[in-house]
Formats: sequence, structure tokens, C-alpha cells
Amino acid sequence: MTVTAPRALVSGASIAGLSTAFWLGRAGWDVQVVERFGAFRDGGQNIDVRGAAREVLDRMGLAEAVRRQSTTEEGTSVLDGAGRVIARFPVEDPDGPTAELEILRGDLARVILDQLPDRVCVRYGEQIETVRDEGSHVEVTLRSGAVAQYDLLIIAEGVRSRTRDLVFGSAVSRRELGLTMAYGTIPRTADDDRWWRWYSAPGGRQITLRPDNRGTARATLAFTSREQNLADLPLDQARAELRRTFQDAGWQADRVVAGFESFDDVYVDHLTQIRLTSWSKGRICVTGDAAWCVTPLGGGGTSLAMVGAYVLAAYLSRAQFAELGAALARYEAWMRPLIEDAQKLPPGTPGLFYPRSEVGVRVLRLAARIGSLGVLRKLTSRIGHVARAGQALPSMNIEQNVR
Ligand SMILES: Cc1cc2nc3c(=O)[nH]c(=O)nc-3n(C[C@H](O)[C@H](O)[C@H](O)COP(=O)(O)OP(=O)(O)OC[C@H]3O[C@@H](n4cnc5c(N)ncnc54)[C@H](O)[C@@H]3O)c2cc1C
Repeated sequence: MTVTAPRALVSGASIAGLSTAFWLGRAGWDVQVVERFGAFRDGGQNIDVRGAAREVLDRMGLAEAVRRQSTTEEGTSVLDGAGRVIARFPVEDPDGPTAELEILRGDLARVILDQLPDRVCVRYGEQIETVRDEGSHVEVTLRSGAVAQYDLLIIAEGVRSRTRDLVFGSAVSRRELGLTMAYGTIPRTADDDRWWRWYSAPGGRQITLRPDNRGTARATLAFTSREQNLADLPLDQARAELRRTFQDAGWQADRVVAGFESFDDVYVDHLTQIRLTSWSKGRICVTGDAAWCVTPLGGGGTSLAMVGAYVLAAYLSRAQFAELGAALARYEAWMRPLIEDAQKLPPGTPGLFYPRSEVGVRVLRLAARIGSLGVLRKLTSRIGHVARAGQALPSMNIEQNVR
């Protein structure tokens, strides 16, 4: 007797969607991935693989490939007003401020894409128009006009997911954190080192510079703001706003602003946590930032996306068809504590870490200096401890002979 493989549609082909497709394919599912963009999205800056995601990466067999594409960052340093280093946090803890596994987002996505099992198919320039859960299957109409049926729809469309909003409606709650971050590539100069350099300026502004493995440098401009949402603006307008906001910020502000104007891969995020009381509804579920965006303030968004993908597929791999709901509930029960931990921010965030006054900036620098000394450095480095599970990863039923 031949048993037909279960079929899943994954919407979104970034870290969460590709990782889910990777594992479901390994578990013997037929997987269709649709991505709104017309081609593979190579963009994005330095991200890291932390906590339980390191174990997931090992199980994927991709740890070596990630190491080979390391951004080669040696640690994190905090600068004073003149750009001199006042505190250093070298890589000495795999989950410290600079993690052991640092890679560009696009490189990580490519590493996973290249190893997708044969039963996964990715279609670019396609997206979901309508969804109907028929009980026995989900029926989806795509923008191209195609209509198809699946056993499960997995939404992995990131923080601003349209399909999630369509399916979960008012159950989606957003918590805007009042912080905008713009990430971009800039030309490297001879005095750039291999450290992640942090510089704070009054007015709730911060500039960081990081090395990469491409002969360029990666920069972030971050500032506190409740009113402005640059993420919704066309890139030219967002760049003009960044120029205005950082015009008197000092250090390398002018260089970064000019650099952002010469590259097109500027990614602007108005930090927003996503909360949902349930991550599934019938035969539809959400994962990654679409389900629980923790933002860079919570940290580890990429690691949580990888762990979530593994845990979801692991429970699905062990479920009979009638037990789909139970598998989705177990995925949620396993992931919730990690997400709640990452979404819990210290009181005073982001203001405390992005002070508006000159005095506040001095206090922050002093705290970084003290935190980098002797045994305190180990404690400060624990800020990076996210995506750490107090439980073992569930086992996965891998289909034999799957490539
Ligand atoms: C181009 C890009 C650059 C990024 N750069 C950074 C960075 O520099 N620093 C950082 O901390 N984080 C960055 N991120 C976010 C980071 O990847 C995520 O926070 C984290 O990895 C979780 O990933 P995710 O797959 O859940 O969401 P995302 O990485 O946001 O991926 C969502 C995917 O879904 C696709 N999509 C959206 N809507 C639809 C739709 N309706 N139909 C089909 N597909 C859809 C998007 O095009 C995207 O490929 C970036 C994301 C992207 C897409």
C-alpha cells in the first residue's frame, strides 16, 4: 500500500520558512514554499546562532558551513565620545555579545536553501491571496491565480506578515518599543578593526560598526522615537530622515549616513514585538517573527526561528494525521517559555540603553566599563544568553533516503 506524503505550504523563504521546509522535507513531507520577493533575498546584516539553535544547526549538519562563512568578529567594544575603546568583551562565551557563530543573514539563508531536501520546492514572486480552512485540508488561492490544497499552512512571513493578519485578525497584538534600527553595508576603511564597535550619542542615538567576510563593513543606526516609523517609508525618504537625525551625532555618523546612500541593502526596522495567544488555528500555524517577533532588543530572533522550525517539524514528524492539533499544541508548549523569556525586557528599556541626555550617555559608558572588568565581564556577557532551553529538543522522525 502506498501512503501519500502529507503536504505543507510554507509562506516566506527567510530563516524561519527555509528551516521549517528543511526539517519537514527531512521528515518526509512534500513542501511548497512561496516567497513574495521575485528571487532569493540575499540581504541583511550580522546575525548569530545562539543557545539551542547551535544544537539545531549541528543536527542540520550545517555548523561547519556556517563557521566557514563567519564574519570573523573578535568581540564587542564600547567607545567613548572621542571614539576610544573604554570596554571590551572578547569572544569567550559562545553566547556572549559577539557570539561564537556570527554570520550574515543572507549567507545563513543561502546555506539552508542549498541543503533543502528534494521534496521541497521554492517558488519566488508568489504569495497567498486567500485561505480557507476546510477541516480536512486548507485551500489556498495564490496571487498567480493557482488554487491548491494542503494538509497544513505554515506562515513564516516575518514581523509584518499579511497572511497572519488575515487569519488571526484582532488576535495579533503588537507592542511598539519606540526604537528604530537601520542596518546597512558601507565601504570598509583601513582603520576598521574586527570588533563590533558601539558608540552612543545623546538624543537616544547609537551607531555600531561590525566586520564582515566580504571586504565591506556593516553598520547600524539606532534611535529612540515613538512618532516616526521609517520602516514604512520609501528608502530614499528613510535615508533622508536618518541623515537629519544623525547630523550632529559625532564619531562616524557622517560616514555611515553617506555609506547607506551608496548601497541599496539598507534594512529599516521599527522594533515591534508580536504576541499571539495561540500560534495555530485549525490547519494553519505561524512561526518565526510572524508568531513571536522578539526584536533585536530581546535578541536571538534568528536562533528562535531556527529552534521553532525544528520543534514544529519534530512534533509533526511524530504525529499521525488525526493528531495534527496535538502536535501544534506541543510545539507551542515547548516554545512558549523561550519566547516569553526573550520578550521580557528590563524596566526602562529602551531609554536606559539609549539615553537622551549627555549625563545618561556618560552613565551608560561607565556601566559598560565596570561591566567589562574582571569577573563582572562574565556576568555582563550573560545579556546574550537567549534561546536557551531548559529542556531537551524533541526527537525528529527522519524519513530514510531523503536528500
Ligand atoms: C532582507 C532581510 C534583511 C534582514 N536584515 C536583518 C538584519 O540586518 N538584522 C536583524 O537583526 N534582522 C534582520 N532581518 C530579520 C531577521 O531575518 C529575522 O528577525 C529572523 O531571522 C527571523 O526570521 P523570519 O524568517 O521569521 O522573518 P524574516 O527574516 O523577516 O522573513 C520573512 C520572509 O517572508 C517573506 N514574506 C513577507 N510577506 C510575505 C507574504 N505575504 N508572502 C510570502 N512571503 C512573504 C519576506 O520577504 C521574507 O523573506 C532581516 C530580514 C530580511 C527578510
